[in-house]
Amino acid sequence: MIIVMKPKALKKELNAVISRIKGLGYKPHTIYGETRNVIGAIGDERGKFVLQSLETLPGVEKVVPILTPYKLASREFKKEKTKIRITRDVAIGGEEVIVIAGPCSIEGQKMLTDTAKFVKKTGAKILRGGAFKPRTSPYSFQGLERKGLKYLLKASREAGIPVITEVMNPEDVDLIAEHADILQVGARNIQNFGLLKKLGKTKRPVLLKRGMMTTINEFIMSAEYIISEGNGSVILCERGIRTFEDATRNTLDLSAIPVLGERTHLPVIVDPSHATGYSRYVKSMAFAAIAAGCDGLMIEVHPSPETALSDGGQSLDFSAFASLMGEIVPFVNAAGRTLAS
Ligand code: PEP
Ligand code: MN
Repeated sequence: MIIVMKPKALKKELNAVISRIKGLGYKPHTIYGETRNVIGAIGDERGKFVLQSLETLPGVEKVVPILTPYKLASREFKKEKTKIRITRDVAIGGEEVIVIAGPCSIEGQKMLTDTAKFVKKTGAKILRGGAFKPRTSPYSFQGLERKGLKYLLKASREAGIPVITEVMNPEDVDLIAEHADILQVGARNIQNFGLLKKLGKTKRPVLLKRGMMTTINEFIMSAEYIISEGNGSVILCERGIRTFEDATRNTLDLSAIPVLGERTHLPVIVDPSHATGYSRYVKSMAFAAIAAGCDGLMIEVHPSPETALSDGGQSLDFSAFASLMGEIVPFVNAAGRTLAS
């Protein structure tokens, strides 16, 4: 249920509604708006009719049900788009489109710092790099783990760029939160509910990748897990889904961009690297994603893709990344946005 307060409602009236919600066994989530405040009452759907009685309290304008299965992530609950601040000068979900770039895996200090400096110079706002890698085969490179996190922090400081890295287990959340500005949940962990709940208790923004077999509703429900535990800084990432088509690694679901934009207030970014699996298709799909209205891109970039320890075939080298960053500008502008600079 959403409890919409009157524009002139007093603070003590708001507090009275909040304590009544708690008294009825629901969890209040307040959004402080410019003209009025709105409270979401989250809990067991079956008894929600009791919340209707809140309409009689002073300061309450109306009580309306949220019809979607996800509540806090829904546009019904929050009309304005969420802008997530990463650092003082980097935010995701605003008017500016941002680019996240870097290698699939962190392979060493030099390659990472060189990539950090290059992508920053070329216009990327955030460096990516995996230290804990989810690999299909247990015999493939699993990432440099703790050592990788150290390299990531050093590259971030030397290049002056915020960083994102993947977290696979709830036990690693605190460690990774000490080393990265954004925590990434990979496609394979989209329904690792223990991990999502733990991430809901951190203060770091979370980038949630859509699973390869996840519907849009399931995707948003996973975001709801994180938000309902107290962390509202969730960025959604479309990275392709598994279909019958095998000419590309996955099929980029471009229509997810407007659908997510309609159903949720969360920022949406697109990863054309994992979506296509081939470096030569990355640019076209990046253009298409921007045209469809996404808030940013995540692109794999490696100093020498042919020697990469993971995902070399889909990684752009420095010169391909530089040309993408130049050629994308007219698409960004045509979409009514600007490229963060
Ligand atoms: C990654 O970003 O390196 C990754 C493993 O992606 P995904 O979880 O989308 O497969
Ligand atoms: Mn990868």
